[in-house]
Amino acid sequence: MAKQSFAVIGLGRFGRALVEELIKLEAEVLVIDKDYEKIEKVAKALTNTVCLDSTDVEALREVGISNYDKVVVATGMDVDNSILTTLILKDLGVKEVFVKIQSEYHAKVVEKLGVDHEHLIWPERSTGIRLAKVLVSNSFLDYFELDDDYSFITIKATKKVIGKNLLDLDIRKNYNVTIVAIRRENKIMIPSSKSPFENDDELLLVGRNDYIKKFSKWLNGRK
Ligand code: ATP
Repeated sequence: MAKQSFAVIGLGRFGRALVEELIKLEAEVLVIDKDYEKIEKVAKALTNTVCLDSTDVEALREVGISNYDKVVVATGMDVDNSILTTLILKDLGVKEVFVKIQSEYHAKVVEKLGVDHEHLIWPERSTGIRLAKVLVSNSFLDYFELDDDYSFITIKATKKVIGKNLLDLDIRKNYNVTIVAIRRENKIMIPSSKSPFENDDELLLVGRNDYIKKFSKWLNGRK
């Protein structure tokens, strides 16, 4: 498979974190910002940076933006700016546009411009939802929603599982959730069915939300 190419427009905290991670993952990425100082900060690690205003259609055309597989619009608070950039990208034929969203209105407009619902990025909202689940559950260490029904969570091992192994517990059959990995002393490992869980293990598991709830109730229950 040919390597995918990405472009990120806007180097606020979000855009910058995204770019740094893409570089770590050895992805090919074009970085765009209208502020030269922002560009300079990432330029050392990258060859592909340009200083331009993304509301300038000719400038975007010139850098060949439509040749990039996925373009992320991570410009800041100025919603009109982001909407105009999105419109231009769609007009220039960029197939996959991702947009960092500021408000419901912003989301509605960019969806109307043809951006997929799944490509709307709500960083603050996602973080808030995640934290709420972690706080309320009292036992989740981390939480990711996979879709409306399924989640991926991290939960601390308790005496219910410590000293026992996957074979003894038959968790998939009994609780309908799957332990995909464990974190032990800050290292991720794939559990073998016969090795027992240890004190301070963290279980990384996937399942339907109702089954996860049942499992965590059992795991943290007294009986
Ligand atoms: P974050 O939470 O990610 O920091 P923010 O809303 O605070 O988001 P800013 O700090 O304003 O975002 O960063 C947005 C970046 O996008 C800035 O570096 C700004 O120069 C850049 N930007 C804004 N508009 C354009 C544009 N039209 N063309 C190119 N870059 C732009």
